[in-house]
Amino acid sequence: EAKQRGRNLYQFYTKDLNSQTYRHLVLENQLVKALARDEFDIHYQPQVSLRTGKVEALEALVRWHHPEKGLLSPAHFIPIAEDTGIIEGLGLWVLKRVCEDMHRLREADIEPPRMAINLSARQFRQAKLVERYAAILKEHDISPHRIELELTESTIMQDIHVAVDMFRQLHQLGFRLAVDDFGTGYSSLNNLKHFPIHTLKIDRSFVSDTPHDRDDTAIVTAIVAMAKGLGLEVVAEGVENEEQLAFLKQLDCEFIQGYYFSKPLPFSELCEYLKAFSYS
Ligand code: C2E
Ligand code: MG
Ligand code: MG
Ligand code: MG
Repeated sequence: EAKQRGRNLYQFYTKDLNSQTYRHLVLENQLVKALARDEFDIHYQPQVSLRTGKVEALEALVRWHHPEKGLLSPAHFIPIAEDTGIIEGLGLWVLKRVCEDMHRLREADIEPPRMAINLSARQFRQAKLVERYAAILKEHDISPHRIELELTESTIMQDIHVAVDMFRQLHQLGFRLAVDDFGTGYSSLNNLKHFPIHTLKIDRSFVSDTPHDRDDTAIVTAIVAMAKGLGLEVVAEGVENEEQLAFLKQLDCEFIQGYYFSKPLPFSELCEYLKAFSYS
């Protein structure tokens, strides 16, 4: 397989060197090896409940310590991982690492908050995803209700029948389910009501200009009201300042995620953050 890759690379190189394609291929080759070389890492971002004043959940966000480029954020490699299928193995690694980190938190005398994990469209269609996820949790003795799986609205809408079926299976096992980047896709409420969803996450693009932008303010207000009406929890993403926080608080949006509280943190900084955290 390595040979074949080498040959493909050679052909691209000799035919016409489209440098973007070439760079893409180099990155892809490095990405293939990154799992075995243990180059991935997870940073955790708190989700704070304004009701309890506690960090109720942590979102796991993958990072790649690239041998030359340094720390890469998902935008640089998730699309390639998705195209090549590498995302499937990476996704299993993420869940395992999250389970291990939950135990490491306990060892540090910290009751682990719920963990939120992102799933891409390809992972969602992965054969045996449900069995594999269930097996990993069992192996680590962690209950699925401690895990919330985040799927974007567009992933869900790609094939709504598959999505309904997958959500039912995951829900039955006890996983919590969240709609990520809510408001950016084209789901109708009529569609969403068929899903066993716990949480709506309002996309950062709507939050960032509140409370000044009239349209965004109206949209966020409507989403929070709707979530409440449907009995869903609602998380505002990308909250960066006091003003946004005050606006969301006044709407009674319970959960806040964003730089205002913290950037995603490496595990080494997480324990200290959680121990020191207080908000009221
Ligand atoms: P997402 O799930 O919507 O994650 C939220 C993103 O917003 C994260 O970017 C986070 O760092 C960023 N963010 C949070 N608060 C703020 C803020 O106050 N201001 C600003 N400007 N940004 C904020 P990140 O870590 O770069 O991740 C980007 C996307 O990559 C994620 O979007 C998610 O879709 C995907 N992703 C991350 N980890 C994984 C993974 O393990 N598996 C899969 N399939 N996708 C992942
Ligand atoms: Mg997410
Ligand atoms: Mg999001
Ligand atoms: Mg996003």
